[in-house]
Amino acid sequence: MTTSTQDTRPSSAPAAVELDAVIIGAGFSGMYMLKSLRDKLGMKVKVIEAGNGVGGTWYWNRYPGARCDSDSYIYCYTFDKNLLQEWEWSERYPEQDEILRYLEHCADRFDLKPDILFGKRVTETVYDEKSHRWTVRTDKGDAISARYVIAAVGSLSTLNLPDYKGLDSFKGRAYHTSRWPHDGVDFTNKRVGVIGTGATAVQAIPEISQQARHLTVFQRTPNFCVPARNGKVDPEVTKARKANYDTIVDNIRKSFFGFELSFIPKSVLETTAEEREAEFDRMWGDGGFAFWLANYQDMFFNQEANDVIADYLKRKIRATVKDPEVAEKLIPKTYAYGTKRQPLDTNYYETFNKPNVVLVDASTDGPIEEITPTGILAGGKEYELDIIVLATGFDAMTGPLKDLGIRGRDGRSLAQEWEDGPQAYLGLMVAGFPNLFTITGPQSPSVLSNMPVSIEQHVEWVTECIDHMRRNKLATIEAMPQAQAQWAAHVAEIVNMTLMPGANSWYMGANIPGKPRRFLPYLGLEGVGGYRRKCEEVAAKGYEGFALSP
Ligand code: NAP
Repeated sequence: MTTSTQDTRPSSAPAAVELDAVIIGAGFSGMYMLKSLRDKLGMKVKVIEAGNGVGGTWYWNRYPGARCDSDSYIYCYTFDKNLLQEWEWSERYPEQDEILRYLEHCADRFDLKPDILFGKRVTETVYDEKSHRWTVRTDKGDAISARYVIAAVGSLSTLNLPDYKGLDSFKGRAYHTSRWPHDGVDFTNKRVGVIGTGATAVQAIPEISQQARHLTVFQRTPNFCVPARNGKVDPEVTKARKANYDTIVDNIRKSFFGFELSFIPKSVLETTAEEREAEFDRMWGDGGFAFWLANYQDMFFNQEANDVIADYLKRKIRATVKDPEVAEKLIPKTYAYGTKRQPLDTNYYETFNKPNVVLVDASTDGPIEEITPTGILAGGKEYELDIIVLATGFDAMTGPLKDLGIRGRDGRSLAQEWEDGPQAYLGLMVAGFPNLFTITGPQSPSVLSNMPVSIEQHVEWVTECIDHMRRNKLATIEAMPQAQAQWAAHVAEIVNMTLMPGANSWYMGANIPGKPRRFLPYLGLEGVGGYRRKCEEVAAKGYEGFALSP
């Protein structure tokens, strides 16, 4: 089983001991956080990064077909106008290596690498009440003391590796998609099994099927997929976007999900069949997230409306997949459309028409029982395999934070505090853990948005907050328990108005055995735009809901 990467680059910077701030993680968020605190506020800062390079998600997820599914012209930093003008994306949805090249370019452009400690994993993050400082320790023996800690660990970075009986006995090779070997995997002439049919598998399966001799897909829950419609972007469109970036950036910051998309302000139940079919065809033709995030406004709230929209997608699956039995297995039946993360596909359904591809569905063929030395036993039948690909996802949002060994006031452990689910005021700070910020943490919009938009908003808010602290000679800022409880109640109240809690999604923590069933991100009624305004208001009112002490 391969779950670690094969890096050879040495870690490049020595550990500092006394700092102003420690940032954990050198992905999109950690890199911008470093630039902001170091270059705007002149602070002494280091980033601790487990990988041997920058990029976070784009460093680790190197599986075949990995690419972003936010349009590239807005899946990037927007804080630097020159960078926006100069960088050229090759496609609508660039591949992982291109996004990683972009982040490498940013790291060099802003001279970030000298302040990043690579190849070190944080094991302990402990607060000392007397000095008001945190001590962060790594698996390589570093001990760094700092007034502020900013967890920029990403929402989807702790693996979900199912505890299959016999996994260790497998004589072939097994890989989790998020720990893919840097020199790739050769599937030529191999019998491959892919476990999972989430956004990762939907990207990987068509690619693997082109190389493998035989591919068996083990599906637990089918997904509704919509075409990505990736490709080159018309140079005239790119030129127009570059000329209009100020407006675009303003639009996405004020938008619902961080995209240039908005719902159709109408109930689908008030439309004629012809009218809605034309809208569905348009969104289907556009590809991308329009079908999910710019559909009729009652889709997320009303089961009947949702059924009408889902029916269009079901018809598309039946029209594409030639074997009606396979098509039925691929059609979701247990949850409302859109309540699980929308995968964007390129030839996903078509792949099941290929003679070398077989679908094993847990509910009709039987679930995976165990891994044998020669394959996977599911529904009483053994599927012989040379390679197993685990596209089984992540312990989302709380997993990466729980892994940091965080102990706040009175030695309270964050992992224990969150045993019944996370609570975090604005998704930014947790009561009892002063001066610890969580970028795109639980109970903030994070994964329900175009991530760079939410990342930049959090980084800028935290930078202004720390600036405020320093200018006013304040020692600590901490979420007040009551404000935190009210925020958690607000997060729950809003999501309970929607169909989202009905799905066994990773948004609900339902993919991890034993994880409490709680909606992890924040679905604000006015989206990321409304959430941004709320955070700005809180700051303008002297950090309302936070306790600040001298
Ligand atoms: P995921 O959506 O959680 O999918 C994991 C798959 O593995 C699901 O089909 C799940 O089934 C299955 N699974 C999990 N545990 C299993 C078990 N014990 N036995 C059998 N099947 C099991 O994970 P992901 O596909 O890696 O995607 C996670 C998120 O990453 C996405 O939702 C998206 O936010 C992000 N992502 C983004 C991109 C992009 O931007 N381009 C690409 C890939 C991923 P169930 O559905 O039944 O749980």
